[in-house]
Amino acid sequence: MRFVLCTILLILSILPATQSAQAPVIDSHQHLVSPAGAALVTGNPNSPGISARDLVALLDSAGIWRALVLSMAYTWGKASRAPVENEYEHVKAENDWVAQQVAQYPDRLRAFCSFNPLKSYALEELARCKKDPQLHYGLKLHFGNSDVDLDNPNDVAKVKKVFEAANRYRMPIVVHMRTSIDNQRKYGADQARVFLNQLLAAAPRVPVQIAHLGGAGGYNSETDSALGVFAEAITKHDVRMKNVWFDATVVVRPNMSPEDLQRIAARIRQIGVERLLYGSDAAASPLAYPKAGWAAFQRLPLTPDELRTVATNVPPYMRDFARR
Ligand SMILES: [Zn+2]
Repeated sequence: MRFVLCTILLILSILPATQSAQAPVIDSHQHLVSPAGAALVTGNPNSPGISARDLVALLDSAGIWRALVLSMAYTWGKASRAPVENEYEHVKAENDWVAQQVAQYPDRLRAFCSFNPLKSYALEELARCKKDPQLHYGLKLHFGNSDVDLDNPNDVAKVKKVFEAANRYRMPIVVHMRTSIDNQRKYGADQARVFLNQLLAAAPRVPVQIAHLGGAGGYNSETDSALGVFAEAITKHDVRMKNVWFDATVVVRPNMSPEDLQRIAARIRQIGVERLLYGSDAAASPLAYPKAGWAAFQRLPLTPDELRTVATNVPPYMRDFARR
């Protein structure tokens, strides 16, 4: 009897260290891609894309029930690709395809619409998404893909109009704010201040989710200095940070040193684990599947309590789903 009790106690003492933390209740950064969109991005005309059915199967294998699906329609207006004929028609078709896909899983998937915010059709597309039963939930912008230059006042003014309109429509915004690496845009604290002062200030009534902890995947000193601006603003109770969330999508890379992981964990504690969301990114390869992504995230030296907080965080735009 005593032996059995000791064995059980021994197993219980080992379990927390060896078992992975509770799976996230939401994958807050996912993508679906139409076959046409996948052909454009990969250059392979037979590319199947990523359907809702594919994604739901991957979520199931990770034990994740819900996902926020960010349309990649912006890629039809990608700055560093040759222009596509009838671009806006393709943008609409991509957003509509994503809407049709998520509609098949109304209790599991929710979609945000997207477009390049520098294009002449930007505000028209936002207004169209606002009226769509599947796409009115929010907006995804990708400053890198669209080459929004935060040092260029003309670009900032155009994007500000989109933020103001989203604010009016009460559409939350997910933003990949890291500027273009292809075009070697400067990025760091100065650009984060433009974002805080010009863009966040223009959308005070909607939540804003800053993707990849302010970077583009991985973590470097540029991302760290941008994130430092937000951490400082949060410490000072800056009202513009009240509705701001962060996702840590593909921030942890396999080759990261313990020092890098410590640096990221320290920044996460500064911004607060209660603002941090787990995200996987597009399931383009097995390493990017939700199960692998969550395993990678858990390499961060966070406590079990902190991991649990991240796993159970639910941003406002992922509440009030159809009942299971
Ligand atoms: Zn993404």
